[in-house]
Amino acid sequence: MKRILTCVGTRPNLIKITQLDKWFAAYPHIQHSLLHTGQHYDDKMNDVFFRELGIRKPDVFLNINQGTQVNVISAIMNEFEKHILANRPDLVMVPGDVNSSFACAFVAQRHGIPVAHIESGLRSFDMTMPEEANRILVDALTDLFFITEESGRVNLLNEGKSENKLVFTGNTMIDSLVAFLPVIENAEIRNKLNLKDYYLLTFHRPVNVDDASNLTKLAEIICEISQTKQVVFPVHPRTRNRLKEFGLNEKLQSPNIILTEPIGYIDFIHLVKYASAVITDSGGVQEETTYMGVPCITIRPNTERPVTITEGTNTLAKLELPVIFELLQQMQNGTYKKGAVPKYWDGMASKRLVDAAVQFVTS
Ligand code: UDP
Repeated sequence: MKRILTCVGTRPNLIKITQLDKWFAAYPHIQHSLLHTGQHYDDKMNDVFFRELGIRKPDVFLNINQGTQVNVISAIMNEFEKHILANRPDLVMVPGDVNSSFACAFVAQRHGIPVAHIESGLRSFDMTMPEEANRILVDALTDLFFITEESGRVNLLNEGKSENKLVFTGNTMIDSLVAFLPVIENAEIRNKLNLKDYYLLTFHRPVNVDDASNLTKLAEIICEISQTKQVVFPVHPRTRNRLKEFGLNEKLQSPNIILTEPIGYIDFIHLVKYASAVITDSGGVQEETTYMGVPCITIRPNTERPVTITEGTNTLAKLELPVIFELLQQMQNGTYKKGAVPKYWDGMASKRLVDAAVQFVTS
């Protein structure tokens, strides 16, 4: 029996793998296991996704989440190496661009175990983002590249990867959305939060939240836009700490600004679907808004997911009130672009991925 091990560690990782087991079930001669590094560990950033999305309990849990990024990466490598030495899988699959993805890919490659990268080839070309280094490092260690959008294919070919190792699977994150759409539709969160006409915000990238002057600017912008519509802002733990550290919570006290803990996936996507616009710096949220045709403003100088701009509903913007206001105005008066769903964002990406992974280990 051939064995495939998928390694996850964070919220966005989990959302990228919910449909894999469904398709692995068609291959009873393949054993698919799940390893969780523990990088995200609390109820709001982790457990809720297992409960809501029917992800099975991980076969292996490394429970590593304390210390600096380097502490976490090296501790994952140490523990994962023990696991790899005891149970040599035939393929290790890592989703995304987080520290867990790099740590697990590195150890597998060092022990001669092939690596498959889910969401391969994305590039922001901005090495100030820790995720960009992870993307490049993981792809350097990868044997089988699963691609979500055309830019990924072009980037990998430009980096000299051979075409026959690239598989254009489409977007497995969108598979989760498609699978849970009926449940998402029935969520009660808008009633619970008493929402009518609102903007949805998420922010957690260091460039926006770790810098006191940028986070202050963001808080001021939130206050301004809340004069026109309600603003719902599920606050990432990193951002919550910074708002407190920089003394900005007071600024955001207003009946029109609803600050919440991170929200479970079903409620969150429901909020995306019915938002007038989403303002974010998230990677995944740029894709989910594109799939749902919801206008999205991404407060970043670049994106590793350019199809959300060229085909989808996303626009990059500076952290400047007039720029954001102008875009919101276009959305309000119907002149903002409408967008289309990119190739293979059709709910079947996980099937293409599983078929290719099985073929890889059995051929
Ligand atoms: N998400 C969620 N609840 C929230 C905020 C985001 O379920 O309160 C989901 C979102 O739908 C997307 C994923 O988390 O699927 C994105 O995670 P995040 O923005 O933390 O990471 P990134 O994509 O930027 O790496």
